[in-house]
Amino acid sequence: MRQCKTMSKATRKKIIAGNWKMNMTPSQARDLINMLKPACDTAESDVVFCVPYVDIPVALDMLKGSKISVGAQNVHCRDNGAYTGEISAPMLKELGVKYVIIGHSERRQFFAEADALVNMKIKKAMEHGLIPIVCVGETLEQRKQGITIDFVRTQTKIALMGIAPDDAKQIVIAYEPIWAIGTGENAKPEQAEEVCRAIRQVIGEMYDTNVAANMRIQYGGSVTAATAAELFNQPNIDGGLVGGASLKADFAEIVNYS
Ligand code: PEP
Repeated sequence: MRQCKTMSKATRKKIIAGNWKMNMTPSQARDLINMLKPACDTAESDVVFCVPYVDIPVALDMLKGSKISVGAQNVHCRDNGAYTGEISAPMLKELGVKYVIIGHSERRQFFAEADALVNMKIKKAMEHGLIPIVCVGETLEQRKQGITIDFVRTQTKIALMGIAPDDAKQIVIAYEPIWAIGTGENAKPEQAEEVCRAIRQVIGEMYDTNVAANMRIQYGGSVTAATAAELFNQPNIDGGLVGGASLKADFAEIVNYS
């Protein structure tokens, strides 16, 4: 049997990303960044602000020289062409964007993004040196039916189809149960840990234990300053993707959760 190199959890740096969704004009973005920057810049975790496209130049300018990275919330699966209203990976890369959220449940729900498209977007983002934050997660109905693990395993497998191990290692997966997003009801730490562990396991099956041990898996869904520490201290949870609370002073507390 092939021996796989193992890696301790301690070597995975936590990553906490704020998903601003469709909020904040450029001037509002300026105010929010001014408020959050000091506390976020000294955090031990990697911190990312995933801002609307129009706020990217402001964010990059204000965060120049800081440890905070800028992310986008979506990207098209092709380099260029007749895709009115879309933004490509080369465009984001040239601006200086580092991360991009792909497959958020709101894009799956409102813009009919299916697993195969998510896979294409991940490949395109990586081809241009962007780090994908790939969202997976079940609906409340799926959880009630007891198919959460199967469903999330399948989503993860399709998302990573055809991606080489060295690329896969850099990807961040965000486990976001849909019933917890924007509802004020976060998953219990043990529920979130169970699914994040299952995601790591499927990555180990697809690649090896080295890739599985290196990949960062976040939890997302109504994270607050009060719940962050218990969630992020779970063995297989390497930080969070934060929506509502990333628009407030709470985000500074969340990134300094420990
Ligand atoms: C999100 O948008 O990814 C999210 C987790 O939102 P919220 O924290 O508001 O639930």
